[in-house]
Amino acid sequence: MPSKQRKIAMMGYRSVGKSSLIIQFVEGQFVDSYDPTIENTFTKFIRLNSTEYEVKLVDTAGQDEYSIFPLQYSMDFHGYVLVYSITSSKSFQIVQIIYDKLLDMVGKIHVPIVLVGNKTDLHLERKISTEEGKRLAEKWKAAFVETSAKRNESVTDMFHAILLEIERSDGHIPDK
Ligand code: GDP
Ligand code: MG
Repeated sequence: MPSKQRKIAMMGYRSVGKSSLIIQFVEGQFVDSYDPTIENTFTKFIRLNSTEYEVKLVDTAGQDEYSIFPLQYSMDFHGYVLVYSITSSKSFQIVQIIYDKLLDMVGKIHVPIVLVGNKTDLHLERKISTEEGKRLAEKWKAAFVETSAKRNESVTDMFHAILLEIERSDGHIPDK
């Protein structure tokens, strides 16, 4: 059987760990300073529930409250990973803004999304509780995972979660 191709966008405020999560997943290492402006696509083959996937992960440079949602991001993707840092309330606000824009652009009620609270290793600096993250994900009917790219905690789970969310929606790119 040929592998299923899945294209996933990593979105979120700057410095939340989007690139670090991808690099940890694809290369198995934690890079302390990765150029924040690079927009790169990473490919990884993974097997999940006896299905082979070719996963293309598009690392975005990040969004803020003023970003206009890029039209190309509303069309081309099977699913979206929306990342905030548990140490940053601002980044938690920004994922909600991104979500609203995303739904406006895609024009569908259900889009496969995983909400990710990263940097759990920095628990002394935590600003957003696990409960708050969970509640937001429930509101969106999205999956929720807390991760540490640094310690490689739940990073694989998070990428599995988005593939499963896409599977639930049959792997169709939502119609316009
Ligand atoms: P991006 O702008 O969202 O792509 O964020 P980066 O992946 O470039 O990470 C921004 C900064 O946060 C870098 O200094 C990373 O080393 C750091 N970082 C990323 N993930 C984690 C994490 O899980 N724990 C800690 N302590 N630092 C992290
Ligand atoms: Mg980055």
